[in-house]
Amino acid sequence: MKYYRLYRKLKKMLERGVVKYNYNLKKFNTYNIKSRGKVVVLVNSLETFLKVMKVCEKEKFSPIVIGRGSNIILARKKIKSVIIIFSDRFSNVYKIDNSIIAESGAALSKVVAFATNSSLSGMESAVGIPASVGGAVYMNASAFDYRTSDVVKSVLVYSHGKIREIGKEELGFGYRQSIFQTSNDIILRVEFELAFAKKKDIRDKIAKVIDKRKSKNITSFPNAGSVFKNGNNYFAGELIDNCGLKNYNINDAYVSYTHANFIENRGRAKGKDILALIDKIKQDVKTKYGVELQLEQKIIGE
Ligand SMILES: Cc1cc2nc3c(=O)[nH]c(=O)nc-3n(C[C@H](O)[C@H](O)[C@H](O)COP(=O)(O)OP(=O)(O)OC[C@H]3O[C@@H](n4cnc5c(N)ncnc54)[C@H](O)[C@@H]3O)c2cc1C
Repeated sequence: MKYYRLYRKLKKMLERGVVKYNYNLKKFNTYNIKSRGKVVVLVNSLETFLKVMKVCEKEKFSPIVIGRGSNIILARKKIKSVIIIFSDRFSNVYKIDNSIIAESGAALSKVVAFATNSSLSGMESAVGIPASVGGAVYMNASAFDYRTSDVVKSVLVYSHGKIREIGKEELGFGYRQSIFQTSNDIILRVEFELAFAKKKDIRDKIAKVIDKRKSKNITSFPNAGSVFKNGNNYFAGELIDNCGLKNYNINDAYVSYTHANFIENRGRAKGKDILALIDKIKQDVKTKYGVELQLEQKIIGE
């Protein structure tokens, strides 16, 4: 089946506005790269998601999943794939005792706000990470004293045609690492286990984290956070800086002047500009230090 026929089929089955054809993904990635996805599904319920997966599996399409697009590089102008987006339309958050349950499209900041209003502590330092719940688990996002892996209790996933719950011990968490990076399971819902605390203390901590983030003031240009992982004995940004690469550019893709482990889109950078800049950085660091930098960001549609 061709993409257009798949689109027509899904359109007939789903609510209006849920499935798009040749859709511009610029506002779905924080690099603001202009790239069009052949068939794009803006998931609005579990039921929609299951219907889409059933058709895709029958017709042999392998969808790509994205959340808030804050850690991805859209590699091409046109991405010939089905792209499933979990964002605001799939973002219910509720609580049971000291657990918060969130759909995978919920912004992490929404969960932090919900936790604060529920007097639940443990996620204050996640404020400012522009992740979806699914993306945060996939990447094991962390900041200051927060690690997603510390607060996740279980994850509801779509795995080979079935829905199942996976407990924390099976999630293979490590630095920017989770089982999902190899399993290809799709994260649908996450249970976070938090601790009751005074609202005032939670709010004070959040205010401090916001101040800390502001004082870093890394860049105002579109970016997707750290490009490379740090190593056991090096900071990627330091090695890149020592290679004299700050402000180095390929077309509108620049190595940030304020933090060398960030790449900025200072205009109309394309995925291929960012990828070429990544290659240049890797080469220079390898030549000078013999270190193979490991990419943290995920390439989509290569
Ligand atoms: C300004 C800025 C600041 C940042 N600060 C931090 C920080 O402090 N700490 C930190 O760790 N990161 C930080 N990041 C990086 C980024 O926010 C995190 O990596 C985040 O976890 C990505 O979440 P996302 O929803 O945007 O995922 P996306 O970028 O949409 O996707 C990332 C990967 O997750 C997969 N994925 C997403 N959702 C699902 C799902 N439901 N099921 C299966 N796979 C899925 C995608 O396929 C992709 O491979 C920052 C980024 C920016 C732009």
